[in-house]
Amino acid sequence: MVDLLDYADEKGFRCYFLGATAEVSEKMVATVSKNFPDIVIAGSHHGFFDLDDPAIVEDVAKSKADLIFVALGLPRQEQWIAKHIDRFEKGLFMGVGGSFDTLTGTIPRAPQFWINLNLEWLYRLLKQPFRWKRILKVFEFMARVLFRRE
Ligand code: UDP
Repeated sequence: MVDLLDYADEKGFRCYFLGATAEVSEKMVATVSKNFPDIVIAGSHHGFFDLDDPAIVEDVAKSKADLIFVALGLPRQEQWIAKHIDRFEKGLFMGVGGSFDTLTGTIPRAPQFWINLNLEWLYRLLKQPFRWKRILKVFEFMARVLFRRE
């Protein structure tokens, strides 16, 4: 997500930030405006709404965003994207889990050492072992991608 934000900043893309609490959502807009000044904030909305709420879909559609970061947690974000993707004329939609919480500093990120080794997920698992079921889903997803038959 950070690489995409860098790229969006370079290109002056329009970005929409959907998800997290109202407070974190507001902080996210402030953080992006400060750290990626050339990104156009196309819109934002907190993540506590009914997945079928048409007002949210409309707001995202009319924002004409190039990148839409969806932080509703797994599997709500994937369900929301899958349900509504056909309603949008443009945009790359990405489920980003708890990223708004970490990018705004609301929840601390893993130390850089873990990030460099691409092991941030393992750090999170060690810190919050009750999330093991959700982490297993990541491996299931990778296996399904690797072994899928067209
Ligand atoms: N979240 C949300 N709406 C919901 C449930 C969760 O916007 O109905 C947000 C929550 O505030 C957090 C993010 O989803 O910012 C990711 O939550 P979590 O860390 O549990 O998800 P994961 O990283 O496991 O996908």
